[in-house]
Amino acid sequence: MQRRPGFPARLPGSTPSASSVPARPAPLVQAARQAVAAPPVGLGLDSAAVRARMVQKLAAGGITSPAVLQAMGAVERHRFVDSALVNQAYEDTSLPIGLGQTISKPSVVARMCELLLGAEGARAGGLGRVLEIGTGCGYQAAVLSLLAREVYTLERLRGLHDRARDNLRPFRLANVHLLFGDGMLGYAKGAPYAAIIAAAGGDAVPQAWCDQLAVGGRLVAPMALSGGQQMLLVIDKTPHGLKQNVLEPVHFVPLKSGIA
Ligand code: SAH
Repeated sequence: MQRRPGFPARLPGSTPSASSVPARPAPLVQAARQAVAAPPVGLGLDSAAVRARMVQKLAAGGITSPAVLQAMGAVERHRFVDSALVNQAYEDTSLPIGLGQTISKPSVVARMCELLLGAEGARAGGLGRVLEIGTGCGYQAAVLSLLAREVYTLERLRGLHDRARDNLRPFRLANVHLLFGDGMLGYAKGAPYAAIIAAAGGDAVPQAWCDQLAVGGRLVAPMALSGGQQMLLVIDKTPHGLKQNVLEPVHFVPLKSGIA
């Protein structure tokens, strides 16, 4: 038979019996438990620890380059997303950055950067000049700035170009050059590039990118292959011509022509 609760009725767990739980936790301990369970807000001084966990996961997921892991651990991704999304900044997920665009997942940024470092021309003295198509919020440009001598980054949407400038200002990265323009045309003034990296996917590799790539340079870009599936593409420019490799499926925003 079920016993009726006495009055006042006890809420389940509100008054644990002395036998099941030794003692009610002290208020401070309770507060600490809540802090661990609650989503982080503000991400102040502890963001280094959250990033370190993200880096551990990247390494567990197969990223091996110490330079890439270090760069991913150094750049404060939470400064590039809307304040309402700050507590998701170190999850392996893409997030909206406005104007229908997204910041790429950390694992994809790390993967593409690692591929760039594998360029023939990068083996001896590291990465020289890099061209990024699709600045977006500027996050990947900041990561690249720690891996390459110079970073030229193009964005076709004025609103995002301006936002990236605002986001990057506090970092004072002297080797990042923010450019407003159609990335499908590349940026001939900075060519030849040791590497070109696209953060938006089209149906074909624009000729300008291949032309502006240095011999020994590498292009990493998402590309829709026949059937429409977007795949990560690596093109190496060798003294004998272009060598193409198709890697894993990816999901990037579309590469569009013109500016807006
Ligand atoms: N690397 C970015 C990812 C941004 S998403 C980051 O870290 O946030 C891809 C970006 O590519 C979008 O901002 C989109 O506007 C831009 N894009 C698409 N087509 C482009 C083109 N032809 N030239 C320059 N940027 C382009």
